[in-house]
Amino acid sequence: MSSALTAPNADAAEILHHVYHGSGVTRAELTRALEVRAGVVAAALDAFKDAGLIHFDDLRYYPSLNDDTDATARREYARLSGARSCRTCGCTDQWACEGGCDWIDEDLCSTCDPSVVSMLNRASCVGAEDGVSVWTELNDGGDVRLMIQNSTGRQAAILTSAEAVEIATNLLMYARAAERDGELL
Ligand SMILES: [Zn+2]
Ligand SMILES: [Zn+2]
Repeated sequence: MSSALTAPNADAAEILHHVYHGSGVTRAELTRALEVRAGVVAAALDAFKDAGLIHFDDLRYYPSLNDDTDATARREYARLSGARSCRTCGCTDQWACEGGCDWIDEDLCSTCDPSVVSMLNRASCVGAEDGVSVWTELNDGGDVRLMIQNSTGRQAAILTSAEAVEIATNLLMYARAAERDGELL
C-alpha cells in the first residue's frame, strides 16, 4: 500500500467503498458525492490503483478485475475506516459479507462462525478403531440420516437439520475441550 494510505483515513475508506459499490465512477463524481477535496480523492485513487485494488479506464474507476481483490478491499476499508470489523474476513456493517451477515461476537461475523458445520458432501463416514463407524447422509428434504454401526448391530435415526446442528455443535465443544486437556476423545 502506498505511503499515502498507511494511516487510517476515513475519506479514503469512503472512496474505496464507493468504487466497489458502484458501476464505474469518475473522479469528479467522487469529489462531489463525498464532499472531499479533489486532491485527497486523487491521492487516494492513485494509491488504490498502485495497490491493484481498483481499475481505471481513462475515465471511470472500477473494482479491480482480479477476483480475489474484493476481500482485500473489504479488509482495507475496515483498516482505513477504523469501523468494527470481523477478525477473520474483515467485513464491517458498511461492507458486509456477500449474502449478509450478523455479529456473533465483538469481532466475529456469522459467516465466519466456526461452530457452523457446512455440509459440502452429502454423505460421510467416520470410523473409529474399535470397529464403530458413524455414517451421515443429507436427505433431499434437509434432514440428516445418522447411522451408527458397532459390534452389536446398527442403529439409525433421522435428524432434522436443527437437531443435526445441535449435535455437531456439542461434538465440536467436546473436541475442543479434549484438545485443551491435551488428550484425545
Ligand atoms: Zn467474517
Ligand atoms: Zn461478515
